[in-house]
Amino acid sequence: MKVTRFAPSPTGNLHIGGVRTALFNYVFSKQSGGLFLIRVEDTDRERSKREYEEDIISGLEWLGISPDKTPIRQSERYDIYQRAAERLISSGNAYWCDCSPEDLEEMRKEQAALGKKPMYDGRSRDLGLKKSENTVLRLATPLEGETIVNDLIRGEIIFSNSELDDLILLRSDGTPTYHFCNVVDDYDQGVTTVIRGEDHISNTPRQIHIQKALDYPELEYAHLPLVLGEDKKRLSKRHAATSLNAYKEMGFTKETIINALALLGWSTENEIFLMDELIESFKLQNVQKAAAVFDLKRFNWVSSQQLAKLNDEAFFDVIKPFMKDEGINEDSTNYKKIILAMRTSKTNLKDIAHATRPFFFELDGYDEKGVSKFLNESLETLNFAHELLSKITEWNETELDIALINVRDYFNLPIPKVNQPMRIALVGSTVSPSLGLTLELFGKEKSLERIKKAIEFIG
Ligand code: GLU
Repeated sequence: MKVTRFAPSPTGNLHIGGVRTALFNYVFSKQSGGLFLIRVEDTDRERSKREYEEDIISGLEWLGISPDKTPIRQSERYDIYQRAAERLISSGNAYWCDCSPEDLEEMRKEQAALGKKPMYDGRSRDLGLKKSENTVLRLATPLEGETIVNDLIRGEIIFSNSELDDLILLRSDGTPTYHFCNVVDDYDQGVTTVIRGEDHISNTPRQIHIQKALDYPELEYAHLPLVLGEDKKRLSKRHAATSLNAYKEMGFTKETIINALALLGWSTENEIFLMDELIESFKLQNVQKAAAVFDLKRFNWVSSQQLAKLNDEAFFDVIKPFMKDEGINEDSTNYKKIILAMRTSKTNLKDIAHATRPFFFELDGYDEKGVSKFLNESLETLNFAHELLSKITEWNETELDIALINVRDYFNLPIPKVNQPMRIALVGSTVSPSLGLTLELFGKEKSLERIKKAIEFIG
């Protein structure tokens, strides 16, 4: 049984890269019937905010990535870190160091002058100093040998211990450092497998040193490839929206977000799947080592595929809030019929809801390109169509289709020359469902009124 955790630092809203990390942790634990946990790494008191913590946890809950236990917060666990520190002191694995910032600066300069890598040289290790207000607690790390990380994705990564200095566990004000809390908590939460971003690789051997000094069992590690923008720089707001909320607001369903993010750095034959299927087919070892490039076009493609899987009722449910945002209520005439007619017109719910507007509200203008390409030359056609349609008594798609054929035959015109100007007259652009259906949905009166308006516009 695997126990994984997502350990966000609540210094910003939930980032989609973070969602992917949480998702892979979640899926991996569920594959073994294990547990997925959340730990809030809020030791940076200045940058950590409760509102971010809430945003992160509720965002994951919305996606169905719910923790199996109540999340813990590092800022509330200082006693536990303190006790772990005392254990390290009494076992001789940690020592007090009183080097001042000036001492350390000088040390760095000397090392640089000798062409050496700047690092703490362990000078207080054997001094037997006592704790004071100027001391930090450092880990006495092994001076020789190697630390091997068996990464589930990358294989063996070897670090030379001589390159890793005696890291600080407690600062001079007594507060614990990031690495120290991270290791103590992984043990305390019973974590078996750490799955996190590649940017943490260099932290791992250091954390293994702390683990060993505390006699904790070894953990499994997997470092996920970074998510990059199209220019191969780390994904940021310059490339695309990065917060989960932005994707939610754009009208991507949780199924789409999970599906699209799982494909960032991992691939499978059947590219469209739901969480259950992902849990069945995901293989952590198959996550790629190379960075993954985020592509909004692909996101949109996944979205259209996921939306197509929804039955009508499910589709009405997911689009409802977006229809509301457009000011369109469920009791509007032909509400459901219009949504169904338009559901494949765009790739996300917000755009689809927006595209239904011409059916519910007056047009606020015509698409410029459409006007010059189709509308301007169609005065005669529209006049004739108006006349023909006004005679129809059975206003349904079949009758309307026949009438449209008659208009084409009368002028001997190809389909677009009749249908496109009509569409522009009705919905303002050339995007609408089949024209017969569009006319049916508008009803006779409204259809004739819009065609008349377009005729006046051309005139
Ligand atoms: N708090 C770290 C971060 O947000 C995660 C550390 C970890 O997963 O071990 O990057």
